[in-house]
Amino acid sequence: MMEYTLWIDGRWVDTRDGGRMRIENPATQEVIAEVVDAGPADVDAAVQAAKRAFYDGRWSRKTPGERSLALFRLADLVEKHIAELARVESLQTGKPYTNVSLADLSFAVDNLRFFAAAARDTHGNHAGEFMAGYTSMYRREPVGVVGQITPWNYPLMMAVWKIGPALAAGCTVVLKPAPATPLTTLMLAELMAEAGIPDGVVNIVSGGNATGQAIVEHPDIRMVSLTGSTATGKKVMETAAKTLKRVHLELGGKAPILVFDDADLELVTKKAVIAATYNTGQDCTAATRVYAHASVYEAAKEALVAGMEAVKLGDPFDETVFMGPLISETQRRRVAGFVERAKAAGAVVLTGGAPPAGLERGYYYAPTVVCNVDQHSEIVQSEVFGPVLTLQSFTDEEEAVRLGNDVLYGLAASVFTRDIGRAMRIAAQLEFGTVWINDHIPLTSETPHGGFKQSGFGKDLSAEAVADYQITKHVMIAHGG
Ligand code: NAD
Repeated sequence: MMEYTLWIDGRWVDTRDGGRMRIENPATQEVIAEVVDAGPADVDAAVQAAKRAFYDGRWSRKTPGERSLALFRLADLVEKHIAELARVESLQTGKPYTNVSLADLSFAVDNLRFFAAAARDTHGNHAGEFMAGYTSMYRREPVGVVGQITPWNYPLMMAVWKIGPALAAGCTVVLKPAPATPLTTLMLAELMAEAGIPDGVVNIVSGGNATGQAIVEHPDIRMVSLTGSTATGKKVMETAAKTLKRVHLELGGKAPILVFDDADLELVTKKAVIAATYNTGQDCTAATRVYAHASVYEAAKEALVAGMEAVKLGDPFDETVFMGPLISETQRRRVAGFVERAKAAGAVVLTGGAPPAGLERGYYYAPTVVCNVDQHSEIVQSEVFGPVLTLQSFTDEEEAVRLGNDVLYGLAASVFTRDIGRAMRIAAQLEFGTVWINDHIPLTSETPHGGFKQSGFGKDLSAEAVADYQITKHVMIAHGG
C-alpha cells in the first residue's frame, strides 16, 4: 500500500493538525493508499514556505530562461516516468491505462513543454513617454503565492495545467489535489525537486474540501485557481471575497453537439461516442446534449445507440477496454439518479441506464442514451458527469443555437455540418469557451481552455493562462532632477 505525507518546503512532513485519508481503486474497490488529510496548520506551513520562496526571489527573480529550463527538465522527467505515473493514475481513477499513458499524460508532458517555452515569451511588455519629461514602463510581475485546487477527473494533467502557467509566470504555489486522487500529484513532488525547482516553490497538501477552504481563506494567498464544480466555484468566490483574492475558475460544463441535415452521420457518431464515454463521461467538455435536425433525428438516434453499445467496458489494464468505472459509488448513484428522475418524467432510455451485466466489482455504469426529454428538464440542464447522452431535435439554425445556448454552462460545444458558412455563423453565436466544427474534444497546449457563463472565467492552457498569473505594474520615471 502506498503512503504519503505532505510535501512542504522541499521535503516530506507529517501532519500537524490533520488526519489521514484512504484512497480506493474504483475498478476493484480495494484500498490502495493512505495519505494526509491536511489541517489549517498544515496549510499555513505550506503557505509560509511558498511565501519565503516567493519573497526571497529564489524563483520569481530567476531569469525567464532559468525558469524555462527547470520546466523543460520537469517535462522530461514526467515523460521518463510516464509508465509508473500512468499505472498509479489508472489505479486511483479507474481510467484505462492505455488512455492515461497515450492521451492524458503524454498531453501533460506537451503542456509542460509549452509552459516552459511560454516562460520566455515577454510579449506585451512595453515602455514609452506618455507625459512630457517622463518615461513609463509596464512590468508584468508574478501575482505572488497562489492556491491551486484540482478535481479528480484528470488528476495529474490538472496539476500540470495549474503548476505550469503559475511557475512560468514566477509565482509560488500551494496545491491541493482532489481527496479521491492525490497520488500522482504527490509523485510529482520529487520530480520537481529533481528538475531543480527550488524548495518551497511548489507545496502539495493533500486533503478534502476543508483543506481547500483553508487555502482560500488564507490571507497570504493572493490568488486561487480552482478546477471543480460550479457549486464549489461559487463557494470559493464567496470565501475569496473576504480577502479580495483573485479567482480563476474552471467549472462545470454541459456541452451540446448540433447535428445538421448535411452532417456526416458516421463522423458524428464516432466523435460523439468518444466524447461521451472518454473518462467515463467525467469530463467538463464531454458531449452531453445531442441536437439533431428533424430530418436526420431517427438516423442519428439509431447510429448513436449502436455506437454507445459498442463501447468496451472492463478492466482498466486490458488494452482493448475504452471505458472504466465511475470514480465512486456516490458518483454512480448520482448518475443513476439523473437517469431515474428523467425516466419518471417521461424520458425513454434507449440503451444503458444501469450498471452493465458481468462487472460486479467496481463502479461501472453502461453508456446511456436518453430521448423524449424536455429542454427544461434536469437531465438536459444539469451536469450529470457520467456516460449519458440526451437526444433532441431542432428544425432550423435559430432553434439549434437557442437550444444549444439554453443552459447555465458555457464551456464547450460542437457543430457538425458540411456548410462552412453555417458553421462560422453558428460558432460566432454559441456562448461557449471552445467551439469545435466537425469534431468534439481535442485541445492543444497553445489554445486557451476556459468557460463562459457559469463555467467560470480565466484560462487554462495557452499564453493566456500564464498572463492570468501575472499582474501589471506601472513604473513612471521622471527625467529631470
Ligand atoms: P468539486 O467541486 O467537488 O471539487 C474540486 C476540488 O475543490 C476538490 O479538490 C475539492 O476538495 C475542492 N473543494 C470542494 N469544496 C471546496 C471549498 N468550499 N473550498 C475550497 N475547495 C473546495 O469537483 P470534483 O467533483 O472534484 O470535479 C468534478 C467537477 O470539476 C465537475 O463539475 C467538472 O465539470 C469540473 N471540471 C472542470 C474543468 C474545466 O476545465 N472547466 C475540468 C475538469 C473538471
